[in-house]
Amino acid sequence: MKELEERIRKDGRVLGKDVLKVDSFLNHQIDPMLMERMGEEFYNHFKDAGINKILTVESSGIAPAVMTGLKFQVPVVFARKHKSVTLSDDLYSSEVYSFTKKTSNHISIAKKYLSSDDKVLIIDDFLANGQAVNGLNTIIDDAGAQLAGIGIVIEKSFQKGRQMIDKTGTPIYSLARITAFENGQVVFGEEDD
Ligand code: 5GP
Repeated sequence: MKELEERIRKDGRVLGKDVLKVDSFLNHQIDPMLMERMGEEFYNHFKDAGINKILTVESSGIAPAVMTGLKFQVPVVFARKHKSVTLSDDLYSSEVYSFTKKTSNHISIAKKYLSSDDKVLIIDDFLANGQAVNGLNTIIDDAGAQLAGIGIVIEKSFQKGRQMIDKTGTPIYSLARITAFENGQVVFGEEDD
């Protein structure tokens, strides 16, 4: 998505070797007009996949997920993060190692919001090593739901997540694909089609 690439070039800041800070439109301040156009992109890509639910993780996945849900006219569920979890029969949960915070989080979703009737599109803000997507996928499996696709706002293709997902054959569509950070600049790869 050219508009997103331009925005990343203009406003993104590379931190260290492998982190991109995009607080001005995605991770702190949110640009709702851009979010809406991203929702439209995800919708156009996955509209024939029979999706009836969008799944994400709090908090930065929520904005693009809601805009996508709006286009599909389907509910959006976000997994909650807990530092420690009291065991509950009413929750599906899994463990996710956070790439940016370097800690493990429990994520969970109430059982009443995910079932075997659901055909799910995962939406997330970033794809790095694929831990968040894996955690959501475990929950989808536990619920007997079906994973129909994965939509990512910013993929860092040089980390492990993309390859891991490609191996599973699950359709994935990333709006911006970063192949490298070079001298503090972002290098984009080919767009997904
Ligand atoms: P993964 O689970 O794929 O290893 O990492 C994805 C999650 O980590 C995303 O949900 C996002 O919150 C966070 N993340 C990973 N890389 C970055 C990054 O470069 N910048 C920001 N802002 N968040 C990131």
